[in-house]
Amino acid sequence: MNIILLGPPGAGKGTQAKRIEERHGPVQLSTGDMLRSAIRAGSPLGQRAKPIMDAGKLVPDEILIDMIAERIALPDCARGFILDGFPRTVVQAEALDHMLARIGKKLDHVIEMRVDEAALVERITGRFTCAKCGTGYHDRYKQPKVQGVCDVCGAKEFTRRADDTAEAMKTRLAAYHAQTAPILPYYRSTGLYSAVDGMAEIDEVTRQIDAVLAKPPPVRLGDIPKPIKVAPRRRTEETEGA
Ligand code: ADP
Ligand code: ADP
Ligand code: ZN
Repeated sequence: MNIILLGPPGAGKGTQAKRIEERHGPVQLSTGDMLRSAIRAGSPLGQRAKPIMDAGKLVPDEILIDMIAERIALPDCARGFILDGFPRTVVQAEALDHMLARIGKKLDHVIEMRVDEAALVERITGRFTCAKCGTGYHDRYKQPKVQGVCDVCGAKEFTRRADDTAEAMKTRLAAYHAQTAPILPYYRSTGLYSAVDGMAEIDEVTRQIDAVLAKPPPVRLGDIPKPIKVAPRRRTEETEGA
């Protein structure tokens, strides 16, 4: 199953992508996480991306397109993938179509997480993550069960993102509206699109996503098998002499 999760920063894409991965198997591909690990590794790509990300702007399309094309071709994506944070521009959406066609893969679901923008700054500024396994938490909405200890892996170190500030959030939301929201009409016009209420509680959002994933995949033009043999047309009175 190949899925895209769409929504502004703080919509809950990472939180739900991890849950889909656990419950249904496709691997989470978070372009934000990939870029942050390039920054930690100090690679040339990381050095180029860091100031752009800290400011809340989008990293150039060609970098992201190459990054995802390489990642999607790896063997673990054979069990399916969840794109979290990609595509983020019309150019990236078009490039994704081409790369999937080239490797013979198709999207099954595009899920928009709808949220009330007033809630997003609080979500982003309260966000923290396990430094070891990447599980996401929130100061108010999702504290670890034992304070200071990750529920999933037991680690005691957590990190906060450099761009999770109210200031960078303004730029990130502006980038979402100017560059990412324009790809929504494109996916809405395919049979693949569904929306869920990203303002609901985390478990309820998961239930809504599970309901979407349980829907049978739409029949697409390319999927309709071509008839193997066409029966010869019988001559009838109407076609007689035509
Ligand atoms: P969030 O989950 O809060 O939306 P991400 O972790 O997805 O944030 O992205 C963090 C930053 O990484 C973005 O603000 C942007 O600078 C960069 N980034 C991630 N994905 C993309 C992309 N597809 N295109 C351009 N920049 C990206
Ligand atoms: P995104 O990947 O879309 O930027 P995250 O999944 O990282 O968003 O969520 C942003 C913050 O909001 C995290 O701290 C997360 O724990 C919290 N969060 C996620 N979903 C919800 C929800 N439905 N209700 C309240 N808080 C949420
Ligand atoms: Zn952990």
